[in-house]
Amino acid sequence: MPSPSPDPVSSVPVLLPLPVERAYTYGVPQGMELRPGDYVKVPLGPRLVAGIVWDGPVEDVPPEKLRQIEERFDCPPMSADTRKFVNWIARYTLSPPGMVVRMFLRVPAAFDPEAPMEGYRFVSADGLRMTSAREKVLEFVNDGMAWSRSGLAHAAGVSSAVVSGMIKAGALKRVDIPPQPAVADPDPDLRTPEFSEAQSDAAKVLTDAVSAGKYSATLLKGVTGSGKTEVYFEAIAEALRQEKQVLILLPEIALTATFLERFEKRFGAPPAEWHSGMAPKRREKIWRQVATGQVRVVAGARSALFLPFANPGLIIVDEEHESAYKQEDRVYYHARDMAVVRANIGDFPIVLASATPSIESQVNAAFGRYALVELKQRFGEAAMPDIRVIDMRKDIPARGHFLSPPLLKEMETAIDGGGQALLFLNRRGYAPLTLCRACGHRFECRNCSAWLVEHRFRGQFQCHHCGHAEPKSDACPSCGTLDHLVPCGPGVERLAEEVSETFPDARILVLSSDMMGGVTRLRLELEAIAKGEADIIIGTQLVAKGHHFPLIKCVGIVDADLGLANGDPRAAERSFQLLSQVTGRAGREGGSSVGLLQSYQPAHPVIEALAKQQDEAFYETEITSRERAGLPPFGRLASLILSGPERGETEKFARDVRFAAPGTEDVIVLGPAEAPMALVRGRYRYRILVRAARAFDMQSYLRQWLASAPRERGQLRLQIDVDPQTFL
Ligand code: ADP
Ligand code: ZN
Repeated sequence: MPSPSPDPVSSVPVLLPLPVERAYTYGVPQGMELRPGDYVKVPLGPRLVAGIVWDGPVEDVPPEKLRQIEERFDCPPMSADTRKFVNWIARYTLSPPGMVVRMFLRVPAAFDPEAPMEGYRFVSADGLRMTSAREKVLEFVNDGMAWSRSGLAHAAGVSSAVVSGMIKAGALKRVDIPPQPAVADPDPDLRTPEFSEAQSDAAKVLTDAVSAGKYSATLLKGVTGSGKTEVYFEAIAEALRQEKQVLILLPEIALTATFLERFEKRFGAPPAEWHSGMAPKRREKIWRQVATGQVRVVAGARSALFLPFANPGLIIVDEEHESAYKQEDRVYYHARDMAVVRANIGDFPIVLASATPSIESQVNAAFGRYALVELKQRFGEAAMPDIRVIDMRKDIPARGHFLSPPLLKEMETAIDGGGQALLFLNRRGYAPLTLCRACGHRFECRNCSAWLVEHRFRGQFQCHHCGHAEPKSDACPSCGTLDHLVPCGPGVERLAEEVSETFPDARILVLSSDMMGGVTRLRLELEAIAKGEADIIIGTQLVAKGHHFPLIKCVGIVDADLGLANGDPRAAERSFQLLSQVTGRAGREGGSSVGLLQSYQPAHPVIEALAKQQDEAFYETEITSRERAGLPPFGRLASLILSGPERGETEKFARDVRFAAPGTEDVIVLGPAEAPMALVRGRYRYRILVRAARAFDMQSYLRQWLASAPRERGQLRLQIDVDPQTFL
């Protein structure tokens, strides 16, 4: 509606980081000039909050009610493309635009310019009483540069009181030192590698895409160790030559120290890192310098997509198949998919890299929506590991043990040859389940439908869903019988016990995300592995992710069947990807290496495809079955997750919501059904699944549904997950 306000420029819409659908209207104080995208501070109730001047009409607010903008930050405005991106995500995920913009507004301290540092410059020594300490200071400060007080004192090897005295005496004068760059400028031409022919061809496709300077999406598919990283570095170099900014998305940024080092080796400076573990001051600096365009390359977790790039020219999504890219909290989005949207809006290229692409990307490539670039061989002399399946029905581990004789033998061979063995088991703790042999009691979480996992090292039972922990006791909490508790199944701690019994002289390292010491410790441990400071490494999912461990000769998948069993439509794909990645850790620097899969169902198509290294066959079968079932990417899915603290009330809410679904033949609505994780953190959960053809406008349908569905009230929540990745 056009605004009938008397002076049309006297008010503007401001989008605030709140769960609201629209921008609020604010008055513009006299003399303040505003454009869409400006960062402003406005009153909201009793508080002041930061928001963005948005596009679109203002509402007709009576003058006495119109609150005034408090301040315009001295900050480069959010670009029109970025604003478009915010609106796009909001529309697609059915999230309030305010909650999307909130992801861009996480670092409010960076909206003000960086304060200059206090510095001092030499003026003259006329009339200065000389001491030997002062002479030392003069030696340094004579260079005509600005020095910080402490820096100068430190360099001259004197106390800062000496410097202060010289300032007082007028020999040095106060100047501003401009803020330092967060990272040095990368040099695109510093060290170009010598490529294999396949790599050169691949690099050319990518650099051409960057030179073209318009939107394109390329899937860079290459077996583990084929040198994908080196190849996409060339695309980055080309973007840098064109003075563009580059975003590299990585699934586990906190752990990718080696990636940063490689980047630095190639470009002479590391990229700016962006993830949740960074110190606030560092975040502010990087946010600000991304906004001004000073930071050229960011390597970050999915949240880096919400940095205010001034001049983006390329996005790389490494390990594009990783489920860590999906956020399932507040705004449910898939960072890979949103990155493609961002590139499209900004009209610049994007590269998705993986050894085991998602089915979605593979299909997009097959239909020509993405260009496909393949590296089919490992770089240099390195061959792929020899993959074998161990039939656990025949090669039975010793009683109470989990490692079969053939696996133990290969581990021994690897270690004896000076190499390392890696055991993979995606289970933290000692045992996933504990039973009482006297009464059959199972240790379960009181807040979640999940077993409590024994963590023997910490002496605790823990819930991996809500964090609930209780001290370990020797008595059954149900019948009180002493010493009748049995751990069922292995976790990495239990495996470590078995390994140290079998290989008493081996140096064993357990890597798991709940390890004490956090990310810093993990980084150190990963370095230690690369340097050969361990013989046997036992790890969870964490070890799968792109690490380069040159010495690993034997990889053992302790339970290859683990991920196959759940009812998730992506179970086969996930298992295939994860297990390929893990076995791909073996033999990355040449020599023969093995990957062994322990399985009770060696004939399962996923296990067979892995054993025969028939990636193409796996993708073909999986794509056909998805197509037949109308599952993504051939059909569309959306989940509605209903939750509440009380079971009956939640179920009724779920049924009422279901009842409001507009009837049409184009969609199938399933449920509500109790979620597989029926209770999480004390909240009961129900799920409704919506399925439709690919051409169907799911968003309009859901919007229409929500308009007539009962509202969230009290503690009852309705969460929408478009393109769900998990079904728990
Ligand atoms: P991927 O990402 O495909 O798993 P990487 O990029 O990590 O593969 O490369 C595997 C190994 O081969 C790394 O140690 C990398 O430094 C090395 N490498 C790849 N390409 C080259 C090259 N052209 N020259 C020298 N070393 C290379
Ligand atoms: Zn729990």
